[in-house]
Amino acid sequence: MRILYPFAKRFIAGEDRATALKNIKSLYDQGFLCTVDVLGESVHTEDQAIAAKSEYLALLKDIETFRRPVDISAKVSALGMDISFDLCKKNTKDLIDAVRHHTIRFDMEGSDLTERTIKLGLELQKTHKNLGVVLQAYLRRTDQDVQSVIEQGVSTRLCKGAYKEPDAIAYQSMDEIRENFLKQAFRLLKEGNLPAIATHDEVLIEKIIEFIEREKIPADSFYFELLYGVRRDIQKVLLDKGYQVRLYVPYGKAWLPYTLRRLAERKENIIFVLKNIVREALGLGKFSKS
Ligand SMILES: Cc1cc2nc3c(=O)[nH]c(=O)nc-3n(C[C@H](O)[C@H](O)[C@H](O)COP(=O)(O)OP(=O)(O)OC[C@H]3O[C@@H](n4cnc5c(N)ncnc54)[C@H](O)[C@@H]3O)c2cc1C
Repeated sequence: MRILYPFAKRFIAGEDRATALKNIKSLYDQGFLCTVDVLGESVHTEDQAIAAKSEYLALLKDIETFRRPVDISAKVSALGMDISFDLCKKNTKDLIDAVRHHTIRFDMEGSDLTERTIKLGLELQKTHKNLGVVLQAYLRRTDQDVQSVIEQGVSTRLCKGAYKEPDAIAYQSMDEIRENFLKQAFRLLKEGNLPAIATHDEVLIEKIIEFIEREKIPADSFYFELLYGVRRDIQKVLLDKGYQVRLYVPYGKAWLPYTLRRLAERKENIIFVLKNIVREALGLGKFSKS
């Protein structure tokens, strides 16, 4: 699967922490904020979960000197949720103890993990305020989950959702997903605690800006959040308009599942990858002959 690396490189800040931190510093210098994700998901042994936690602890140590807040994104499956709820909870608590003025946020994964992720997030946030969650607009249950995070004041990222889910639990058409995204985004913007509006969808962004202006929502009470390497044009425009723009920056060696999700989101990405495969097979690359 190394053949996919030229494509993956656009979406990840490096395979190691030092390279990623250089890129992250440069984003902060440009005025962006970042949420940093150590790539890796679904571990099946306690040692693997501890290894994932150790990388996060090393990252937290390295960002100690950052004067601006960093959002740290973690997947509960990488911290041992598929082994046991309690193991994952212990690993998360160890991270929260080290997080200081930064924030830990659980990415949202496939629906087999939704209930457990939200349960852990709501439970821990009662005593650890710098813990945040993610909700997916394609899930029918999100209406209720938004109510819970608003009532408890949990900082929440709202995205469309990146996994294949059945009709029984998830909206399937883009119109329905967009409609629910806007409904939940408006609620979070009005009543939520530092929500992040995570999308590159220009239709949604336009409607959200209209809402923010109409309702006079203060620019420092929410974030726009976009993926590293995706729609840099929109990232810059939002920053220039004076909004807080946070970029989701993943790094690490386990880049394949994340890359495959980005690949599936856009047919142009598949064409890019196919072109590279053909170039390599036919020896058309600059360095193919060496
Ligand atoms: C900051 C952030 C965090 C996220 N966290 C999660 C999470 O925790 N759990 C989860 O399930 N999902 C997560 N997602 C992914 C999200 O659910 C969607 O799958 C993804 O954002 C694509 O949806 P969209 O709203 O950007 O709209 P789309 O309609 O898919 O895209 C709008 C436009 O953005 C551009 N674009 C979108 N994706 C790509 C791509 N891969 N390559 C190139 N251009 C692209 C294209 O120009 C496209 O027309 C996250 C997304 C963001 C932005």
